[in-house]
Amino acid sequence: MTLLGKDQLKNLRLFVFTTFVEFTFALTRLGALFFHRLPAGSNLYQEPFEISIIRWSWFSFSVISYVALIGYWIKRLSVENAQVIEDANLIRLELAHKKLELSEKQLLTTVDEVKSAEAKLDLIRNDLIKQEQQLRHVLNVTGDGIWDWNILTGQVEHNLRWLEMLGVNQNQQYFSVEDFINRIHPDDLHSVQERLKLALDGSEEYQHRYRMIRPDGHQIWVEDKGAIVEKSHDGKPIRMVGAISDISNEVSAKEKVKELIFFDHLTKLPNLHYIKERIYRALLESTRSQAYSGLMYLDLNDFKLVNDIYGHQVGDTLLKEFGLRIQNAIGPTDIVARIGGDEYLILLEQIAPSVDGANKGLEAAAERILQGLADAFNLGDGIVIFATASIGIAVFGGDVKNFDEVLHYADLAMYAAKEDLTSNYRFYEISLKNEFDRKNVIYTGLREASSLNQFYVEYQPVVSRRHEYVFYEALARWKHPTLGTIMPDVFIPFAEASGQMHEVGYAILKHIFSNHSLWDSLEGKQCNLMINISAHQLMNAGFAEQFLSLGEEFLVPLDRILIEVTEGVFLNNTEIAISVMKSLKSKGVKFVLDDFGTGYSSLAYLQKLPIEYLKIDKSFVRFMTTSHDDLAIIDNILRLAKSLNLKVIAEGVETKEQFDVLLLNGCDFFQGWYFGRPSANL
Ligand code: C2E
Ligand code: MG
Ligand code: MG
Repeated sequence: MTLLGKDQLKNLRLFVFTTFVEFTFALTRLGALFFHRLPAGSNLYQEPFEISIIRWSWFSFSVISYVALIGYWIKRLSVENAQVIEDANLIRLELAHKKLELSEKQLLTTVDEVKSAEAKLDLIRNDLIKQEQQLRHVLNVTGDGIWDWNILTGQVEHNLRWLEMLGVNQNQQYFSVEDFINRIHPDDLHSVQERLKLALDGSEEYQHRYRMIRPDGHQIWVEDKGAIVEKSHDGKPIRMVGAISDISNEVSAKEKVKELIFFDHLTKLPNLHYIKERIYRALLESTRSQAYSGLMYLDLNDFKLVNDIYGHQVGDTLLKEFGLRIQNAIGPTDIVARIGGDEYLILLEQIAPSVDGANKGLEAAAERILQGLADAFNLGDGIVIFATASIGIAVFGGDVKNFDEVLHYADLAMYAAKEDLTSNYRFYEISLKNEFDRKNVIYTGLREASSLNQFYVEYQPVVSRRHEYVFYEALARWKHPTLGTIMPDVFIPFAEASGQMHEVGYAILKHIFSNHSLWDSLEGKQCNLMINISAHQLMNAGFAEQFLSLGEEFLVPLDRILIEVTEGVFLNNTEIAISVMKSLKSKGVKFVLDDFGTGYSSLAYLQKLPIEYLKIDKSFVRFMTTSHDDLAIIDNILRLAKSLNLKVIAEGVETKEQFDVLLLNGCDFFQGWYFGRPSANL
């Protein structure tokens, strides 16, 4: 290869240029020579001969000098080329030397670096050992029990805390997986094994709460977390490490809270919160599986009496015993909860795919429960009682999808069962709800009935033995805006139960007192008026004053008034009732004991009351001509009244036959449809 320097390249270019110029001159000259030889007569330039000689000589000289110049250049180029090759080889050699020097140096630095890296590694290793020691210390101190499981050999290593936690000999260093399994509570073993299997599969992280048993039999709750830390080449787990922490305190605290929230402290049965949750779930499940479930509302009959007679402790014993008996009578998957007082709920889930089937199942369960309660309850200290219960049953799963609805239906059915004299259990049916809704309308309407003047009064005559009209009884009616006329035996108990009797009674009394034409007629006929006063009204503080001031306001002749009271009034607080009656009696008001024979009539008690008349209840009069018993009762009442110097009125006299018999037996006064129905006018 010919190497050319930068200067040589310049020379070469100069040479080529000069040659090119000389060559152009030569060509021009050749051209001129050619034209010189052209035939005579042509118009072209004719050169003289001497000029041609000079030019040819010049041409020859030029050619020779070209050759000499070319020769010179060729020589010079080859010399320079050889020089360049030599230079190049020298450079290569130098380069090779330099490279060698460099690699030697690099080798030395690499060795140094390796040495310093090794030193660093030693430091890190020491650090790691220190850290591991610290970690072990921390883990021992923080209370986590570490386990390190070699899956291939089945050996498990533990830290001190683990041994301590499980009360194991601290000198033992290695355990087998079997040792671990043997320490798990049998009820939790399956779930632990399942979780471990999933962790080894890699499908789930290992984290679980379970119970472990210490050698002394003591049980602890642990939270266990672990992870696979080593795998074989083919991806199989070969080592797993984890930590357990003792969560017994946390669990027992939670259990306590759960017990307080979801269980009844007396019977230890689930409470309303608990069963409510279960009913919610049962509702969802019933819709999903299209099976019917049932809820029973059970209430102990006359439980209050047990409390009143034997005290609360005996009452509590009965409630516990009662819960146990129900539990024994129901299936293992059924739930009984005490929801307060003497009320229990029983949930029977997924009984049958049809309402009929569910009804049958529930009927059988209700009978089993009642049967279980039938035996005497031995409540200690020789107290033995028989207790009965009323059960309301609601089936759900179809249209009924709401907890409140289910509970309400079972409750309605329970109240119906309480009133039912033929059976202790009743199924919910739509009529119960209609009746409930009607009562609701009455209840809410009653609040404004007084202020809206919706009460009015009818008067029914009472005759003497000689058929003379001597009294009239004022009987209240309520003109309800949507339900029409509501009779007093419907709305009076309502007013009493809802605490509105005072307002209702006052409105009726005002209606009667303000009726001037009534008082005029009574005056004209020389008749007296019998007014019914409820126990709740009579016992209300200030009733006597109110009655008297109202009488004063409307100038009512108090000596024309007879107040009808029922026996029940006096049972709770005879003294108050007697003092109210006496204060009114001093103003001329007389008293009649109404519905006599239906309550707890007793002689001692009759003697104490400032009454002058007894009204025999119409229920005795109705069958007196056909029933010997009823006739005997009437006969006895009449005798008793005579012995106490009381006058007797018989109500509900509908026939002449009844009148004749009563007359024959010495009855003083008579009231009933036979003599006249209640009417707006006297
Ligand atoms: P009571 O005081 O025993 O009234 C007698 C009831 O028997 C009245 O029913 C009357 O209409 C009905 N009666 C009268 N004669 C006959 C008869 O021959 N056959 C039949 N089957 N029934 C007869 P009423 O009016 O429905 O009153 C029912 C109850 O409501 C009354 O029973 C009374 O306890 C109560 N009551 C009525 N008005 C008032 C009132 O203003 N205040 C209070 N607190 N209670 C009232
Ligand atoms: Mg009456
Ligand atoms: Mg009566």
